Amino acid sequence: MTSREQRIADFIEPFRVEPGSKVTLAKDFEPDFKGTIRSKKRGRKLLDQGIELLAEYQSRLYAQHTHGVLVVLQALDAGGKDGTIRHVMTGVNPQGVAVSSFKVPSSEELDHDYLWRYGLRLPARGQIGIFNRSHYEEVLVVRVHEELLDRQKLPPGSRRGLWKRRYREINEWEQTLTGNGIKIVKLFLNLSKEEQRSRFLRRIDLPDKNWKFSAADIRERDYWDDYQRAFSTMLSRTSTAWAPWYVIPADRKWYARIAAGAVIANTLIEIDPRYPTVGKKAREALQEIRRDLEAQAPAGAAADPFIEK
Ligand code: ATP
Ligand code: MG
Repeated sequence: MTSREQRIADFIEPFRVEPGSKVTLAKDFEPDFKGTIRSKKRGRKLLDQGIELLAEYQSRLYAQHTHGVLVVLQALDAGGKDGTIRHVMTGVNPQGVAVSSFKVPSSEELDHDYLWRYGLRLPARGQIGIFNRSHYEEVLVVRVHEELLDRQKLPPGSRRGLWKRRYREINEWEQTLTGNGIKIVKLFLNLSKEEQRSRFLRRIDLPDKNWKFSAADIRERDYWDDYQRAFSTMLSRTSTAWAPWYVIPADRKWYARIAAGAVIANTLIEIDPRYPTVGKKAREALQEIRRDLEAQAPAGAAADPFIEK
């Protein structure tokens, strides 16, 4: 491991939810944490470095074509999911990245098991897939508003122990994916209630931001404590050795972006994708083709029938 890679690993360590630990969000993680990075300016430099690193690794991931990376992004409204995606993924080749946003499920989606629609959007080998909201909504919004289960057409009797079962099923699903080359990075953007309030106010005050505001967001804010509980349980139950959660301090947007970028970079470093090298035989074949190409006379202008003499 190079010293830069070590620095990234050390930087993200405080955000990692130790598998098996019991998390109480309000007690264990500070939304306004900024560690040793004192200024936004210094942060900007780090983000630029991180973006460069991501671009390089993504290109190798694509070339090696054995692993995909799934980035799961969860947050409350105004948590900064969109901005994080925009900033962190600038610089990477758009061909290698796909963002999927998950909204209220359609009736077709509700006709399937709850993991179906997420499975359809998984990244292929060589790709980075970003889930803007994800299968975790199934144990978050659906847990906070249990009446949503009524629309899910579950078989009779399956409501008993449903949440416990879902955490287990999600863990198992992710384990299967990981074992088959799809590495999963889970980021929870941890926003304080006060910062959410001021972001909502900004969305109301600035005309360019009005479109981002919806009355539904305010209704969900009333369920703040229920969400904090649902997030805490989710983090405790689904941070696993193969797909740990990272709680990203999100009150400062610039800090959240650096932290999210670092966690994604760390995942790519762990995969350590390499450009495929060709064997001796293939190299010899290339040299032969090269000799052939060199032997061919350069196509001069005079030989071109379309150019008038
Ligand atoms: P933004 O508001 O920044 O555009 P968003 O992700 O909040 O992005 P919205 O269209 O506002 O997008 O909201 C999507 C809504 O869909 C959220 O309220 C979320 O809780 C809800 N949702 C997502 N998945 C599910 C699900 N499986 N069941 C029910 N509701 C869901
Ligand atoms: Mg919204």
